[in-house]
Amino acid sequence: MQHERLLKVLVIGDLGVGKTSIIKRYVHQVFSQHYRATIGVDFALKVLNWDHKSVLRLQLWDIAGQERYGNMTRVYYREAVGALVVFDMTRLSTFQAVLKWKGDLDSKVAMGNGRPVPAVLLANKSDQRRQGLCPKLPKLENFSREYGFVGWFETSAKDNSNIDAAITCLVKSIMSVE
Ligand code: GDP
Ligand code: MG
Repeated sequence: MQHERLLKVLVIGDLGVGKTSIIKRYVHQVFSQHYRATIGVDFALKVLNWDHKSVLRLQLWDIAGQERYGNMTRVYYREAVGALVVFDMTRLSTFQAVLKWKGDLDSKVAMGNGRPVPAVLLANKSDQRRQGLCPKLPKLENFSREYGFVGWFETSAKDNSNIDAAITCLVKSIMSVE
């Protein structure tokens, strides 16, 4: 018989980096220029037939209206098993905020064994690479290893690029630790 598991995954990062767009793209296969800023916390569910043993109910938690504080309450983080930390590759300030978000995550939730929950770094809006700050970014490979991300991806919610790959990487990591 297949075993069902609920995975709470957080999507964090500064305002306007594309968190809501990534979730909508992944769950509903749509993209829009105009998402109303949701107020409060919202989540979307995607059911994954992971392997012959397990069905995963992936709960992606969005935040809205609270990004400007750069941190979230413990209630939001409670029982999360992983996170996507998103920045906008055309805006340096959103990259600089990545470590603040990762720090907030690690200070408020951990795995049963005390280790940080797996987090994947997303450099979003790769379709706008030419307007981007790529040359100014440190090598994301080194950066992500140094700060304990399990992986990093250049993504585009607009072009549907690498969103599946990034989330699959996160889920694999979550499934491998338990
Ligand atoms: P959030 O505040 O992090 O939830 O960001 P939103 O998902 O609301 O996106 C903010 C703006 O960026 C919206 O106008 C989106 O259409 C746009 N956006 C999001 N992802 C992408 C992307 O991959 N490429 C481009 N070009 N625009 C994007
Ligand atoms: Mg949003």
